[in-house]
Amino acid sequence: MKEIIPKIYKLETQEERLNFFENLWSTDLFKIFIRSENPVVQMIKRNYIKYPRYYYYMQDRDKERAAFTSWYNVLSLKKYENSYIQDLYYFHELTHIATMTYEPDLDFKSWCIKMRNNEVLASMNSEVLIYFYIPEYRQYTFKEEIWVDRFLNKDYYKSLANQDLAQLAIDLTSKRANAYENPKDAVEQILSDFRQFSHLYYNVWKKHYVELETVLRNFYKGDVVGFETFLQKNQSKSGILFKDKVEKHQKNYIKRNKLRPNY
Ligand SMILES: [Zn+2]
Repeated sequence: MKEIIPKIYKLETQEERLNFFENLWSTDLFKIFIRSENPVVQMIKRNYIKYPRYYYYMQDRDKERAAFTSWYNVLSLKKYENSYIQDLYYFHELTHIATMTYEPDLDFKSWCIKMRNNEVLASMNSEVLIYFYIPEYRQYTFKEEIWVDRFLNKDYYKSLANQDLAQLAIDLTSKRANAYENPKDAVEQILSDFRQFSHLYYNVWKKHYVELETVLRNFYKGDVVGFETFLQKNQSKSGILFKDKVEKHQKNYIKRNKLRPNY
C-alpha cells in the first residue's frame, strides 16, 4: 500500500485489498465470521476487493467522528476500547463502501433518501443481523438494551437465521422501517433521532453533494486519477478531508451529544 496523499493510503492491488480486509478484525469471532460462507460478508468482501480502496488514520477522533469518509471510499481507521464494538464499526463502514451507489442526477430530497436507505443497510448489518450471524456476539457489546434484543430470543427469528437469511433481513428491515418512522418507545426513539441527525449531515453537503457523487461515479467507471486529485484538492494541511464540512457537522454533533455515536 502506498500513501498517495498525506495520511491517505491506497490499496492498489486485489491482493493488498484482500490482505487488508482479512486482517482488519480484532476479535476471534469476527475473524472466523469473515472467513465463513455467510452470503452478506462474502458479498462485502467481493465488492471491497474489486476496486481501488483507500484508508485514513483519523487525526482527531472527536472532531472527525462525524466525517463519514466511507461515503467517498476512504475507510477511517479508529480504535475503540471495546474490540467487539470496533469490529462492528468496521463491519458497518465496509457495508457502506461495498453498497454505496452514486447518483449525481438526483435532486436534493431524492439524494437524502438514497443516503438514508444506504444507512439502513449498514445499520441492519452492524446493529441487527450480525447478532443473528454470530449469536454469542451480543454478550460482548452494549450493556444497555438495544433494538435487536427484542427479536434475538424469539424462535421465529432464530429459525430464520438458520434457514432463510434473506427472509430474516426482509422481516427485520420492515420492522426497523417502522421504528424509524413511528417510534414506540425510548429504544426506537434513539433510532429515529439518529436518522434526523443524519439529515443534518446531508444538509451540510447540500451545495456540494452533486460534485462528490459525480467524481465517485466516474471513479467506479475507471477515473481513478480524477478521484485522487479531488481528494487532494479537498484535504486540509493537517490531513483532514473536507474539513469545512466536518467542522460544520461537528457543531451539530455537539448540540446533540445526548445521542449515541454511530457504530
Ligand atoms: Zn453509517
